[in-house]
Amino acid sequence: MAKQLLGPFSEIVTMDRLPERGPLMDERLHVIRDGGIIIDGDKIFDVLDGESFKQVQQLSEMKGSPLEYTAIKRKMVLLPGLIDSHTHMCFAGSRAKEYSMRISGESYVQISEHGGGIMSTVRSTRLASEEGLRSLLAERALEHLLRGVTTCEVKSGYGLDVENELKMLRAIRWVNQSNDLYPRLIPTCLAAHVRPPEFKTDQNYLDFLVNKLLPLVKKEGLAQRVDIYIDKGAFPPDLADGYLFQAKNMGFVPVVHADQFVVGGAAVAARVGAMSADHLERSTEREFKWLKEKDVVAVVLPGSSLGLGDAFAPARRMLDAGLCMAIASDWNPGTAPMGDLLIQASILSANQKLTAAETFAGLTCRAARALGLEDRGRIKPGQLADLIGFPCDSFEEILYRQGSLSPSLIIKGGKRVMRAPNPVGG
Ligand SMILES: [Zn+2]
Repeated sequence: MAKQLLGPFSEIVTMDRLPERGPLMDERLHVIRDGGIIIDGDKIFDVLDGESFKQVQQLSEMKGSPLEYTAIKRKMVLLPGLIDSHTHMCFAGSRAKEYSMRISGESYVQISEHGGGIMSTVRSTRLASEEGLRSLLAERALEHLLRGVTTCEVKSGYGLDVENELKMLRAIRWVNQSNDLYPRLIPTCLAAHVRPPEFKTDQNYLDFLVNKLLPLVKKEGLAQRVDIYIDKGAFPPDLADGYLFQAKNMGFVPVVHADQFVVGGAAVAARVGAMSADHLERSTEREFKWLKEKDVVAVVLPGSSLGLGDAFAPARRMLDAGLCMAIASDWNPGTAPMGDLLIQASILSANQKLTAAETFAGLTCRAARALGLEDRGRIKPGQLADLIGFPCDSFEEILYRQGSLSPSLIIKGGKRVMRAPNPVGG
């Protein structure tokens, strides 16, 4: 297949050559003006500055050129595809009623204690067939891709028994393997979301997961990551240590829901050497220090703060403490139903005084680190050709529009995504 040449772009924001941790001024961004890119198959082959692009473009018009040229005729800013490193977008049912109760003043914890919250989604998800779940996930995945998310983590955690956790993970795998219409999905086993009522103690349930569920997840190759929700109303830190160490011994990569309502989870993440600690709304400099020492990526989830009307995680202070910080949507039916990562990141950046460089890094190269992926998140030779183009002439326009400017060009694995709504059925 011929290599593809695309350009000229008003700006190519490569996200290359940036430090992996700590604050980033916009001057650090490597921005190419009027340049182009060459794609070979599903990878980026070359990134061209303005001068080189002109030369290569002329060559591409000569007879017998191995390059297929697509002219970008309008102003466009090119970025790496967005990476959403934390979602729960495989679920059935709606919690709109519960949302109404919350905005009328009831607390999340009160609602959970009365049978709402996560258990309400567990009941709906257990009732759904695997085909039904595939369909619901596929629809949301398509929505995400059209907003520029080309890689997306998806957790299980609404099954909470062997059959239904496997059903969720199989649905995620099916959508991931089905076609190019969806982001690349990274599955995570979050069976330790909350303890289901069938179990009397947290320890019994976690032992059951280690002995019965995780071996099957491993055997079928359904997920390489294991997550646990550590908080009031979920699992206590001391039990989480044991669970994650056992999962790690089985070959899983541990990640943690930490410090959303009370602190404790970030300490576990540091002790077990988790890949990321996510939420961190209540974390302080003490927790940041632990995370930094163990090089745990901090993932902040502004969508859940928006859904709960809660304070944002202290993202500014995390960066100033020298952490690698990623921004994810936490798309879930309870606390973060919006699922629009760019709107959420834009609002967070205004609230927390994050530079554009810090915000985009948290959505691309630093988000890739949260998932342990080295082949994406930057525009440079050898990386996956997952790219998004915004119809504007400078990167500042994107956050300025606070998520209301959508990408008009989306490329996944070198292929242009057509805006045809075609979610899979059954
Ligand atoms: Zn979550």
